[in-house]
Amino acid sequence: MDRRAKSCRCLATLPVPSRLRKAGPNEDPVLPDAPKHLLLVGGGHAHVIVLEAFARRPEPGLRLTLVAKDRFSPYSGMLPGHLAGLYGREEMHIDLERLARRCGAALIEGEASRIEPDARQVCLGSGEVLAYDVLSIDIGIVPDLTGIEGADEHALAVKPIGDLLPKWDRLLADAERGQGPRRLAIVGGGIAGICLAFAAASRLRHTGASITLIGAGPSPEINAGMARRVGHALKRHGIALLSGEPVVAIHRHGVTLANGDSVAADAVLVSTHAAPPRVLHEAALEKDGRGFLAIGPTLQVLGWGNVFAAGDCATMEAHPRPKAGVFAVRQGPVLARNLRRALRGEPLEAYVPQRDHLILIGTGDGSAIGGRGRWLSFEGRWAWRLKDWLDRRFMRRFR
Ligand SMILES: Cc1cc2nc3c(=O)[nH]c(=O)nc-3n(C[C@H](O)[C@H](O)[C@H](O)COP(=O)(O)OP(=O)(O)OC[C@H]3O[C@@H](n4cnc5c(N)ncnc54)[C@H](O)[C@@H]3O)c2cc1C
Repeated sequence: MDRRAKSCRCLATLPVPSRLRKAGPNEDPVLPDAPKHLLLVGGGHAHVIVLEAFARRPEPGLRLTLVAKDRFSPYSGMLPGHLAGLYGREEMHIDLERLARRCGAALIEGEASRIEPDARQVCLGSGEVLAYDVLSIDIGIVPDLTGIEGADEHALAVKPIGDLLPKWDRLLADAERGQGPRRLAIVGGGIAGICLAFAAASRLRHTGASITLIGAGPSPEINAGMARRVGHALKRHGIALLSGEPVVAIHRHGVTLANGDSVAADAVLVSTHAAPPRVLHEAALEKDGRGFLAIGPTLQVLGWGNVFAAGDCATMEAHPRPKAGVFAVRQGPVLARNLRRALRGEPLEAYVPQRDHLILIGTGDGSAIGGRGRWLSFEGRWAWRLKDWLDRRFMRRFR
């Protein structure tokens, strides 16, 4: 056993054919007639689609295991609507246990703490070790709070969403009792930050709380027309916008900007840059310059025939795209087909993600601002109805 394998306490190791144990990068993972174990790590957007695909069309002779931190996987598209009080918690969560049951998969509620591709095994925080024939990773991102002093202690990080929700509930309960924040700051001027600002304003308006959105500059994710519409809507909703100076520190009484200015706040929500989850740091897999898994057009991690990755934790080296759920969702069906093909020993299909995508930002008042590409922008109640219909239609697939 090599040094890294020793570090995992093997409580339950699934049998791995000895020929597979020695297989290295770029080797064909498929052994005809061998029992096959597909291990999905993370219950992200791409993996729920994979599970749905295997439920619809089971793969004979396949053992399927899903490792996910939580039984309920949040759908981020509905998160701002949930924070605004428009959707119940169960409406924005996918029940992974039910989904796993539908496709005969075993769900292990736990956290992958070590990925050992040479040994073809994944170690869990519990000490359990899972061997695999084919591995797929869809574990999202963690917030990158490194450049913001005090953020670990004083900020409410938006991701992981599972950790945010109980904190948001407490904040709301305090607000209802008149003991909540009088001033809320949201750090991060990207789409997520903008959505959160509208959601918070709509939910906290009656408490008299003020909302400030702080972005380091204009969001590169939205075109000029949308930016104009967002600017007008923020004003209409009484949300102050500070743009141009990054936040460098968060403390008990607010935030400090790079130019030394302070913004007073009793609570600070942070939705800034993404960082790769810790389990990827030490995994001996190909990464991009920021530490996200580097994948090719077949969604295989570069150099590894039997390791796939999708969603925010991965970067398509040939076609980089922003980290957005819509890309994880689009990768889902391709990932499902390629996992099936890899298990069968068939050639894989290549995938080129679309260049741009429809963006819809709910403004928390039954209206939405939308756009696509460089030129198209629009807004109205119909845009919210469209977003609501698209999100509910997506969630219906897993009910
Ligand atoms: C407020 C907000 C609004 C957003 N709105 C939109 C939107 O409208 N449209 C859009 O396209 N994008 C939106 N996004 C972005 C979107 O959230 C992400 O791009 C999307 O969630 C990425 O999906 P994923 O499959 O990569 O991972 P995730 O959805 O993050 O799922 C990863 C899962 O893996 C689990 N996990 C993590 N680590 C481990 C581990 N070590 N072991 C086991 N399990 C693990 C996590 O618990 C999680 O359930 C929004 C983001 C935010 C914060």
